[in-house]
Amino acid sequence: MTTTTRYDVAIVGYGPVGQALAILLAQRRWRVAVFEKQPLAYPLPRAVHFDHEIGRIFQTIGVADEIRGASESADIYEWRNAAGATLLRFDSQESGLSGWPEANMFAQPEIERLLDLRARSLASIDLNRGHEVVGIRHSDKCVGVECLTAEGRHFEAEARFVVGCDGANSFVRQHVGANITDLGFFFDWLIVDLKPHLAQKWSPLNIQICDPKRPTTLVSGGPGRRRWEFMRLPGESIEELNSETTAWRLLKPWGFDPANSTLERHTVYRFQARWIDAWRRGRLLLAGDAAHQMPPFAGQGMCSGLRDAINLAWKLDLVLAGRASPEVLDSYSSERIPHVQAVINFSMALGRVICVLDPAEAQLRDAAMIGAQKEGQRSTPPPRLNIGPGILHDGDPCAGRLFLQGRVRCGQTTGLFDDVVGRGWTLLSPSADPASKLGREAAAFFASLGGVSAHVGADAVVQDIDGTYARWFADAGVDVVLQRPDFYLFGSATSVKATSSLVNELRRRLAA
Ligand SMILES: Cc1cc2nc3c(=O)[nH]c(=O)nc-3n(C[C@H](O)[C@H](O)[C@H](O)COP(=O)(O)OP(=O)(O)OC[C@H]3O[C@@H](n4cnc5c(N)ncnc54)[C@H](O)[C@@H]3O)c2cc1C
Repeated sequence: MTTTTRYDVAIVGYGPVGQALAILLAQRRWRVAVFEKQPLAYPLPRAVHFDHEIGRIFQTIGVADEIRGASESADIYEWRNAAGATLLRFDSQESGLSGWPEANMFAQPEIERLLDLRARSLASIDLNRGHEVVGIRHSDKCVGVECLTAEGRHFEAEARFVVGCDGANSFVRQHVGANITDLGFFFDWLIVDLKPHLAQKWSPLNIQICDPKRPTTLVSGGPGRRRWEFMRLPGESIEELNSETTAWRLLKPWGFDPANSTLERHTVYRFQARWIDAWRRGRLLLAGDAAHQMPPFAGQGMCSGLRDAINLAWKLDLVLAGRASPEVLDSYSSERIPHVQAVINFSMALGRVICVLDPAEAQLRDAAMIGAQKEGQRSTPPPRLNIGPGILHDGDPCAGRLFLQGRVRCGQTTGLFDDVVGRGWTLLSPSADPASKLGREAAAFFASLGGVSAHVGADAVVQDIDGTYARWFADAGVDVVLQRPDFYLFGSATSVKATSSLVNELRRRLAA
């Protein structure tokens, strides 16, 4: 039997990116269908790290407390050579720019379980597991999706937009028809996830051992878990490496065996460094691993996918509501691709440090990096956090920068800004309530976006408890900012009196 159901958005794939996008759209009351080919959730660990910005996305999704409970913050990520000398060190703050720890360690199945619970609490998400998308019909008005169910039944749906969150081997990608830029940087690693029977204290929590005899990663896999990654050596077959016997043999020098720990999984994973050149074709879009893949050394694959989801969600919301022109969706690729490229380049730069098997090359690397350390230089700086050109205030030095979230007090309530004051389009100023400076039309437009406005300061209605906003505004030399729902700045002005022109410029950009 064939049935056709109509949705606002159909999402193909229910990994973390599909889950997050479905929730973000359903929170805005859009009717969302999710089609996932697997009948059950993928049970094995993959990602182990998310950063402060992603913590704020989880907060937006409504799972902050649950995710905090399922993760642990990391202080140091150290890169050592075979002799134990430090080559590189990343110190992570307990409170990062977005109000969350800069580095958080977790187990991906646990995060997916929490996102699934949240998605199931939202009535406008129609979740269809055991539904493989096998056909896509694309027209000017809608997209038809054909699924084959686990029972062999055909099912058809129509949606105004379809987003492929269907992972590295994306089916939807074929229909977008874009080119893949592949940097050709790939290596095989054995991934081993372990649950030690007794609680362990690791210092530093996360280490890369850049030993050409066997490059090894040793990181937290979330509370109560450890992750080891061992690079495949020349002449070693994948079958030989990917065995339980090999996993235990490689763990032995670390003091772990079946008597004191449980092996959750072992698998050989080939990482890639590549991205798709266009993430939109008409009503078809891509997000997450379907659009980009990267080496795991910066822990940014899933993080990048969640940034895609929050960027796309507010744009789809405005387009579906008829408040923005569909061309606004082109800014999704133009903003996100440069960011993803920077993250992939950083992940590759880190990969080039550790994926060295030649002892002579490793010696040269060590000398250069230890020398750089002594001179106080960092050989592998983290990437800039700006997004690329898009829905931004032209020529504004703050436009495209990730904005902060600090702790505030408002009346009797104390907490992170988004929870206390609100989220979405947000005007902030240290000198006045920016909304009070809006002209009639700008005020009506800003209200139609559900905009939030706050005067933040030591003695303002929104009290800047730690002075984080005061410091930010002083450093930036501006008096008002307009923050987008994905926490990046649309723009700024040096006087709060210019708020109207900032908001009018946003209106122009969304209509263009
Ligand atoms: C070893 C390892 C370590 C990693 N470490 C990190 C890290 O520390 N931090 C980090 O941020 N990232 C990390 N990553 C990357 C992270 O796991 C991925 O980026 C993330 O899972 C991608 O999420 P996604 O939702 O885009 O895709 P996926 O999680 O792959 O989900 C795609 C879904 O689409 C479904 N699907 C596919 N085709 C169809 C179809 N035709 N119809 C219906 N459904 C379909 C699949 O069944 C799957 O459930 C790591 C990855 C690995 C392997």
